[in-house]
Amino acid sequence: MAECIFCKIIEGKIPAKIVYQDELVVAFEDANPASPIHILIVPRKHIPTLNDVPENDPILSHIGTVATKIAADLGVAQTGYRFFINVNKGGGQVIFHLHAHLVSGKDMGTRFIKGAIVLAVGWRKLVAKLQSKS
Ligand code: 5GP
Ligand code: ZN
Repeated sequence: MAECIFCKIIEGKIPAKIVYQDELVVAFEDANPASPIHILIVPRKHIPTLNDVPENDPILSHIGTVATKIAADLGVAQTGYRFFINVNKGGGQVIFHLHAHLVSGKDMGTRFIKGAIVLAVGWRKLVAKLQSKS
C-alpha cells in the first residue's frame, strides 16, 4: 500500500527501531510510547484490520508467539505485559495496517521506592512534631 506508514517502515523507507523480524512479521518500537516498553508487532503483508485476517491464516498465532519471545527478551515475560489489537476507529485503531501492541514497564519497582520514601519522610516529620511537643 503506497500511503501506508507501516508498509513504508517494513520496506525500510521510514526509519523505526526494529527489535525483531522474520519472514512474516516486523516488530518495532512505538514512536509515541504509552509505557517504557511499547512494541508494535506488524505482519509484512498489508492487512487493514483484525477483521480482514482470513480464517485459518497463521498470522495471528505467529504474532502471539513473537510477542512472547520479545517479552522474554525484554525481561517482562514473568513480571507481565499487555498484548492487544485495536480494531477500527471505535476500537482506537489509527493505523490501518494490522498490528498488535506489546506494552509493559510502568516501573512498579520505582513506584514502590517512591512510595516508601514519601512514607518515610512523612513518618520522620510526625516523629519530629511529637518530640517537639514533649
Ligand atoms: P493504533 O491506535 O492504530 O492501534 O496504534 C498505532 C500506533 O502506531 C500508535 O501507538 C502510534 O504511536 C504508532 N505510530 C504511528 N505512527 C508511527 C510511526 O511512524 N512510527 C512508529 N514507530 N510508530 C508509529
Ligand atoms: Zn500497510
